[in-house]
Amino acid sequence: MKNPSEIARETLKLLAQRKLAPTPDQYAKIFAEISGEAAPDSNGAEQILRKLVEHLLASDQSAATGLALKKTLADENWDQCLKEIEKILPKGSDAQAWPGLIKNLLRQIDLPHKGLTVTRKKEGVDTVLARFSSKPEVLFEKLHNLIRSWSASPMAETLVDAIPTVAEAPTAQSAALASSASPAVPATADKGSELIFKLAELLAKTLESTISAQPELADEVRQLSAQVRKIRTTEQVSDLSQKLRHLWLKVELRGTDKTKIQEGLVRLLRLLVENVGEMVEDEDWLHGQINALNEIISKPLDKHVIADAERSLREAIIKQSLLKKSLTDAKSTLKNLMTTFIDRLSVITTSTGDYHQKIESYSQKIAKTNNLNELGNMLEDIMQDTRIIQASALRSHEELLDTRRQVEEAEAKIAKLEQELSEISELVHQDQLTGALNRRGLDDAFERESTRVDRSHAPLCVALLDIDDFKRLNDNMGHQVGDKALVHLYKVIKEMLRPSDAVARYGGEEFVIVLPDIAAEEASGIVERLQRELTRQFFMHENERMLVTFSAGVAQREEAEPQEEVIARADKAMYQAKRTGKNRVVVAE
Ligand code: GH3
Ligand code: MG
Ligand code: MG
Repeated sequence: MKNPSEIARETLKLLAQRKLAPTPDQYAKIFAEISGEAAPDSNGAEQILRKLVEHLLASDQSAATGLALKKTLADENWDQCLKEIEKILPKGSDAQAWPGLIKNLLRQIDLPHKGLTVTRKKEGVDTVLARFSSKPEVLFEKLHNLIRSWSASPMAETLVDAIPTVAEAPTAQSAALASSASPAVPATADKGSELIFKLAELLAKTLESTISAQPELADEVRQLSAQVRKIRTTEQVSDLSQKLRHLWLKVELRGTDKTKIQEGLVRLLRLLVENVGEMVEDEDWLHGQINALNEIISKPLDKHVIADAERSLREAIIKQSLLKKSLTDAKSTLKNLMTTFIDRLSVITTSTGDYHQKIESYSQKIAKTNNLNELGNMLEDIMQDTRIIQASALRSHEELLDTRRQVEEAEAKIAKLEQELSEISELVHQDQLTGALNRRGLDDAFERESTRVDRSHAPLCVALLDIDDFKRLNDNMGHQVGDKALVHLYKVIKEMLRPSDAVARYGGEEFVIVLPDIAAEEASGIVERLQRELTRQFFMHENERMLVTFSAGVAQREEAEPQEEVIARADKAMYQAKRTGKNRVVVAE
């Protein structure tokens, strides 16, 4: 529920809006309408007004108004009463008004006003804010007045005056158009923005060309063309396009043939302006269009000429966009091609890190560029690099193949050598004639077996065998038969012994047998069994049985006894066997 003072204010507001005389009756009616209460009599309304006076008097800020209002009530001066009340109505603090004011302030600060810089305007705003910020309702009005005072300033005449209008000097206008050095163009501007400036200048002049046909709109047109020449930012463009739309609307409303021409001209420009972003990339084309348009507007205007120009411009824009699309397609195809090319290349070449780095940097460049020339140049660079790299890759590939061949050959050689080596190493442990172990083989076998029995504390025996009267056999039968006899003896020994017993050819016709895990007695028994076996398995030569016998000495290895010592004892025992009749076995002491 609103308090009476609020209702009173709203009542007065409504009275003002409905332009009703603020008589007590009207007041009471409206008051009842707002409050929803039954209409009070006129005294009631007056009472409410007096309550309002009291309310106003209670506040320091509105006490003066309260006093003045009190006087109007006493005088029953209702006109004055309304005026007093209007003073306390929230003019500026209306929530709807502030956004509009701020928007306008922002816009007007950037707009050109003669003799006023943006800094000056800002100083003005600062002053107003400092002085009236504690009084919102006054602040609103002061700000509003300040902004209005700027707009009241005429537009920068220097700019407007610098541009001759069509009516004044049509030839000078074309001359100015032909010259690209517009005074508004900064020396540092790039080509794209230079074109936009030229286009802006052209638009400004086209606008001015309408002045003679539309004298009623002359001021507005001049303001707009000045604004066009000052275009620097996108916001300015959108602000301008809004104003242009208003102007075009006004022009369109006139509907004469002349305005149709201007309308067409303006449409033409609108096309150019709308497409300028797209077209900036193709500067030559845009220059051509600007020159063509320039020529059109420098001649007496005819609506058909303008329609033709508009049509050809539209066609050009469509063509341009199609071309641009196919160019973009071509570029992306080329880019894809190049990327694929590079990808494949980096896969197929077994090249250096240096090349990979180059390719990497090309890939990055390709991704960034959109310029066909650059892509072309880059492709040439890549081709050049690739030719070099391909040659070197080919070379290194051949070298690699060659090296691989060499490696393979070397590997084969190594395998063969290894095979030979292993055979040799086998052989070096073997006696070539009989296949028995040789001296080295014996060393290994003795070492291995003695280590083993040392661990197991088992006995180990060595038997030394020496063929009896072998010299005679050689002498009688020949050396080769003697060799065969050696082979036969070894064969018989090997067959009779355990696989773990090592048999070595120790000398010409001497054999050493290593017998692990058995003591001397048993070893001696085994050797005797060998002797018996030789009487069963005769050495056959030319179908002739030949008895081969041997004498042997057996020695049991003592703990940690070296091989040569054991063999020496066996040898000693063997000699004893020789001395004591041969074909015997003697155990060493
Ligand atoms: P003994 O019973 O005392 O041993 O008489 P022996 O004839 O065997 O005498 P000795 O051991 O001194 O002679 C060894 C002979 O063995 C000398 C040599 O002609 C022969 N001989 C040694 N090595 C070979 C060999 O590899 N092949 C052949 N066919 N004979 C060999
Ligand atoms: Mg001998
Ligand atoms: Mg002998």
